[in-house]
Amino acid sequence: MIGCEHRQKREIVAGWEVLRRHKPGPRTAKAGGLRRTACCTPLRVASWLFDIGPVIWNTPARVKQSIVTLDMEGVLTPEIWIAVAEKTGIPELRRTTRDEPDYDKLMRGRLEILDRHGLRLKDIQEVIGSLAPLPGAREFLDDLRSRMQVLILSDTFEQFASPLLRQLAWPTLLCHRLVVENGNGRIIDYQLRIADQKKQTVLALQRLNYRVVAAGDSFNDTAMLCAADKGILFRAPANVKAEFPQFPAVETYAELTRLIEAEG
Ligand SMILES: [Mg+2]
Repeated sequence: MIGCEHRQKREIVAGWEVLRRHKPGPRTAKAGGLRRTACCTPLRVASWLFDIGPVIWNTPARVKQSIVTLDMEGVLTPEIWIAVAEKTGIPELRRTTRDEPDYDKLMRGRLEILDRHGLRLKDIQEVIGSLAPLPGAREFLDDLRSRMQVLILSDTFEQFASPLLRQLAWPTLLCHRLVVENGNGRIIDYQLRIADQKKQTVLALQRLNYRVVAAGDSFNDTAMLCAADKGILFRAPANVKAEFPQFPAVETYAELTRLIEAEG
C-alpha cells in the first residue's frame, strides 16, 4: 500500500508538471505553443484527474458489486398467455416470445384476438389469479434474494403481475402497462415504459458499476443476456438455444443458482 501511495504522489507531481509546462501563454503561442499544448488535451487532463482523484480527495476505491436480472414468465412463473389460451380455448393465444421475436407484432395480434372474442381485462385477470409460480421458484428466489440483489425484468404488464408477485413475496419488477378503455375493461393498446427495457436496464445498472448476471428463456431476453456481464439461458426452447449457443443453458434452479454464484 505504501508503494501504491508513493506512486500516486509521483503521478500527481508529474501531472502537475505537465500542466505547468504546457500552460498556454503569450510566449508559447508565438513560438509554436499551439503544437505543444495539443498534447495537453482536455481528455488527458480529465484522465489524469480521474487517476489522482482518490488521492487528492481521499475517496475510497470503487467496489464492483453484482446484481441479478431475471425474466419472469418461463423462469419463475408459467407463461400467462398460454394459460389464457388453455382457459379460454383459443389456441392462437398460445404464441409467445418463444415463437415470435417481434414483440409488437405479437402483442398487436393478441389484442386483436381478445377483441374478436370479446375478452376483457377482468377475464385475463381471473386466469392469472388461478396461476401459481413454477414449482421451486419461490424457494429459488428467496434464497437468491437473501444473498444478492435481484430485479425481475419482464415484458408483462402491471395489470397482470400482482397475483404472481404476491406469491413470490413481492420482488421488484420492472414491466409495461396496458391501456384499458374506461368503463368496459376492453384492452385497446399497450404502452412500453421504454423500448428494449431489459437491455436498457442492464446497461443502466452497469453504468452504476454493477456486474450484471442475467437469466431468461426467450428471444425477448437475448438482448439482455448479450448486454449482461454473464448471460444464462434457463429452460429455453431448442430454437433459442440453437440461435444463441454462446450462453450456457440450464434446466434446474440448482444449476442456475450454481452458475449465478460462480459469476456473482
Ligand atoms: Mg420468458
